[in-house]
Amino acid sequence: MKPVVELVSTGSELLNGRSLNRHAQMLGARLDRMGFALARDTTVPDNLEAIQEALRAALGRVDVVIVSGGLGPTSDDITPEAAAGFFGRAVVTDPASLAALRKRYDRLGRPVTPAAERQARIVDSAAALSNPVGVAPGERLEVGGKTVFILPGPPAEFVAVLERHVLPWLDAAATDRPRSDRQSLMVCGLGESDIVALFDKAGFPPPELEVAYCAGPGRIEVRFGAGARGGDPESAAREAGRLLGGHVYSVEREEMEEVIGKLLIRGKTTLSTAESCTGGLLGGRITSVSGSSVYYRGGLIAYANDIKATRLGIPLEILERDGAVSSAVAGRMASAVRERFGSDFGLGITGIAGPDGGTPEKPAGLVFIALAGEKFVRMRKYRFGGDRDRVREWSVRMALDLLRRHLQGVTEPDAFGTDGP
Ligand code: ATP
Ligand code: MG
Repeated sequence: MKPVVELVSTGSELLNGRSLNRHAQMLGARLDRMGFALARDTTVPDNLEAIQEALRAALGRVDVVIVSGGLGPTSDDITPEAAAGFFGRAVVTDPASLAALRKRYDRLGRPVTPAAERQARIVDSAAALSNPVGVAPGERLEVGGKTVFILPGPPAEFVAVLERHVLPWLDAAATDRPRSDRQSLMVCGLGESDIVALFDKAGFPPPELEVAYCAGPGRIEVRFGAGARGGDPESAAREAGRLLGGHVYSVEREEMEEVIGKLLIRGKTTLSTAESCTGGLLGGRITSVSGSSVYYRGGLIAYANDIKATRLGIPLEILERDGAVSSAVAGRMASAVRERFGSDFGLGITGIAGPDGGTPEKPAGLVFIALAGEKFVRMRKYRFGGDRDRVREWSVRMALDLLRRHLQGVTEPDAFGTDGP
């Protein structure tokens, strides 16, 4: 079996904008780590013919197809019927799954209705795959040298059945798998073209390596893989790290907030935040890391001017003279929250997230970020492009990176901002 898989995602909600298809991403990431490829994801509505047609097309291309969703109790959950009809088999009740379902419902004190029992149905002669976090089992069907997995739709259940049953099966069944060793560098503070220019100047990378770039607001992943002719991703990443210097924040695909968490713990230091235009996004990001209570003291969302004045003690003259969106105010926010919250560092963000509210002097996307420590305040001025979400995301990333650079003693400034005012 070739290490190539296709996914058929079922669910009208994935096509009418109600839900984001997360299965393709979750599956693709796991397969990628194993040296497998997710070759295609076909998303179809909860419609029998559409599911069967997608299954037929996928099985025409690859040996293993994963179908997700539509195993539940409701009348729009028709994936078992679609698969059974496609292979000319019946739908049957799996006794072990039904027993597990009854036990679970009993424990929860819920009646086992006929609708609930629907969740124990599988295609005749398929192998049921136990679902450790839900009721509907997955199933594996072998037909004419091809394998079809059917997995439940709720993302937590999809992943649980995938990891428990599907990935181990794939791992054992695959032949001629390519080398899967890859190495990533996470970069903040340079644009893609800056990276390419630095690489070009050094005659890097050698042609036998595969290089892929993935850019998001305030971060770029540079990924090295062994190409068809070999090549060593690890030594390539080391060389790239040397060329990109302090702009590299991780070599393990860590998020920036995890990186600064580790640095703060290592230095036994603490942080607090004062946010205006990001409205708590920075604090939210910092606290998304388990264990952040060790180093994060808290944050204040100081949106209105009078809150900046009363809660952070920023003099009204400064707010009036420089405006709330200014490096003076960002600096005051950072140092005031640091002092008032009793932390070693304070981060402040003030800006115009847009798209409305800008003026010719202070256009939308203008953001000031400041980092305050015991004896210093460092201020940065940015002009981010894009919509509100993008400006806010960039602001959070660059604030975290400002702290990261200080904690790591990185002296090169990032390529996007200027030192305030
Ligand atoms: P249930 O028993 O909950 O009905 P199911 O196996 O029938 O499970 P669906 O009805 O297709 O699955 O989906 C259940 C939930 O999981 C829905 O909220 C749906 O939006 C979500 N879901 C299904 N497929 C995906 C997907 N590809 N990405 C993200 N969410 C999904
Ligand atoms: Mg359902």
